[in-house]
Amino acid sequence: MIPVNQPLLGAEEKRLLTECINSGWVSSDGPFVNEFEQKFAGYIGTKYGIAVSSGTAALETALYAAGVGKGDEVIMPSFTIISCALAAIRLGAVPVLVDAEPDTWNMDVSCIERRVTSKTKAIMPVHIYGHPVDMDPVLSIARKHGLVVIEDAAEAHGAEYRGKKCGSLGHISAWSFYANKIITTGEGGMVLTSNRKMARRAASYRNLCFLPGRRFYHKELGYNFRITNMQAAIGVAQLSRIEESIRIKRMLGEYYREKLGNIKGIKCQTERPWAKSVYWMYCIELDKKLGLNASQMMAALLKRGIDTRPFFLGLHLQPALRSLGLFRKERYPVTERIGRQGLYLPSGLALSKKQIDKVVSAIKMIIRGH
Ligand SMILES: *Cc1c(COP(=O)(O)O)cnc(C)c1O
Repeated sequence: MIPVNQPLLGAEEKRLLTECINSGWVSSDGPFVNEFEQKFAGYIGTKYGIAVSSGTAALETALYAAGVGKGDEVIMPSFTIISCALAAIRLGAVPVLVDAEPDTWNMDVSCIERRVTSKTKAIMPVHIYGHPVDMDPVLSIARKHGLVVIEDAAEAHGAEYRGKKCGSLGHISAWSFYANKIITTGEGGMVLTSNRKMARRAASYRNLCFLPGRRFYHKELGYNFRITNMQAAIGVAQLSRIEESIRIKRMLGEYYREKLGNIKGIKCQTERPWAKSVYWMYCIELDKKLGLNASQMMAALLKRGIDTRPFFLGLHLQPALRSLGLFRKERYPVTERIGRQGLYLPSGLALSKKQIDKVVSAIKMIIRGH
């Protein structure tokens, strides 16, 4: 079986984790939390890092920190994980969608401005599958209308837009360190910003909005979104190898493209000239003319011992969101098409070129035999 992903954990993770156990620092009070925050913020290029318990928590914390609240509108892609919409909804805000671009699958930035209203507070670009969003137009629309830019960089650790790291381009960014992300802490996340006030609000929200100097007195409703010292220890170890991990991801991505690029009916993940993608997951879209959709291809690959995952289902098609009265009668044709025709292939750091060859020949056989 070739797994879709497998985290790579090593001796350094074990050593730092053992340190937590030996010292008794297992809660969020331990020293690795601060070290992880400072090192990750330094790596991406922001002043502050606030580690939290997941990427989903990071998104909500970032929106809170940016001042998003009741009745505000947040513009985000229709093609993304539900966490983006959840973050807005939990704070009483309203997700407003834009469709995806057909080739990078990122939000189509040319659709953003017509969705701006007097209630719009923020734009949330999501760097999908490790490829940066075209940020200059996003930032200029935000400047023009006085909006906050919150990057969801959960799939883009180390990706670059015009030479600058994703997650340092907007006002604040949200990260995930779930087991399948480019660096992992098992579960975990972080908020990054260079804005001191936003950093303070994020730290407060993560820790029940305790008032500094007056414990057990609360003027606002927060959460316990704290990360443990043990998770942060794994994060510090993972971060020390991040450049190597990104190099491997890019190498795998380029090898996949080389092997799949000339198969008719398969659209490969692209990389724009201004982008450094980190190929978080290697993705393909099947042309409808093949007469195969993603779930048929996935089932056929599974029979040959190859594990894959489907693309996101559009937010506007999620029953849980529609039942709130959201997105009625809205259509996002690119999102709907890639949701049916897109899948991602085995992309773990331990994947070998030989395994990629096996995946590619299985895909060829399935197309031919169909
Ligand atoms: C993984 C992911 C999240 C959520 O992160 P969790 O740590 O699983 O909560 C949010 N946004 C995107 C784009 C993701 O890929």
